[in-house]
Amino acid sequence: MIPERKLREEIIKFSHLCYERHMLVAMDGNLSVKLSENEILCTKAGCHKGFLVDEDLVVIDRKGKKLRGSGSPTSEMAMHLACYDERPDISAVIHTHPPISVAFTIAGVSMARCVLPEVVLTLGTVPTVEYATTGTQTLADKIRPYVRDHDAILMDRHGAVCLGKSLLLAFCNLETMEHTALITKTARDLGNVRELDPGEASRLRSMGLKRYGGPPSAVAQADAPHADLPPACTGCSGCAHPKPSGIAPKSELKMARVTNGGLGATLGTVDKQMEDALVREVLRAMAK
Ligand SMILES: [Zn+2]
Repeated sequence: MIPERKLREEIIKFSHLCYERHMLVAMDGNLSVKLSENEILCTKAGCHKGFLVDEDLVVIDRKGKKLRGSGSPTSEMAMHLACYDERPDISAVIHTHPPISVAFTIAGVSMARCVLPEVVLTLGTVPTVEYATTGTQTLADKIRPYVRDHDAILMDRHGAVCLGKSLLLAFCNLETMEHTALITKTARDLGNVRELDPGEASRLRSMGLKRYGGPPSAVAQADAPHADLPPACTGCSGCAHPKPSGIAPKSELKMARVTNGGLGATLGTVDKQMEDALVREVLRAMAK
């Protein structure tokens, strides 16, 4: 068990870091960490995270009742409690408003996509929870199914919730998400976002879940055909509505018929029956 004094120092340090790294401004955001199975240390409502001090921290129980400290617990307390309820394996929750990631939700561009190999390996994809009013039980209930399966999620027009076995790991997930958003946005500005080949994405994710772990429900899917990844978007680049990977666009089918060098990558997007037919066709062509 980590001493409360050390966790109080840590939550102050990571609150300052969130502000310095532009993950939140003014009175935005809130952080919490488990002191024990029944006690949670969290930031109080209406305090500036960039200048957070020990008096800005309160201790609550698992129902949200204040046990120690002055002031009220964060207005997003229900969100934090929902995370701890759904994920007994985690010990820290960080809620911030990272600007580029939030801009993706406003633009309607999904971050549940496989773009950067190392992010797929360590974090997987970042889903977006549909809009609900901030600080409400409705919002807390909406995030439940998402935090069950993910360590980083976005809330439409609002912010991010990042989970971890420690404040450091929750902060790493936040940084990784916002950095991915910056790289993806830059690629979009340059003209195109090329997604990872779906087969490679599944292999990476499976490897990452076994090597680094993740939500227990995701780890349980490590050997599933697509691991815990959503269907890949094969028809466009950057829409918010990924198309299932079973149907390849006509241009890809045509390419599969006339090439053999890039066959593996191209076939990653077609279904098994179609793949078998294409392989037979290419083998016939190569035999001529
Ligand atoms: Zn918020």
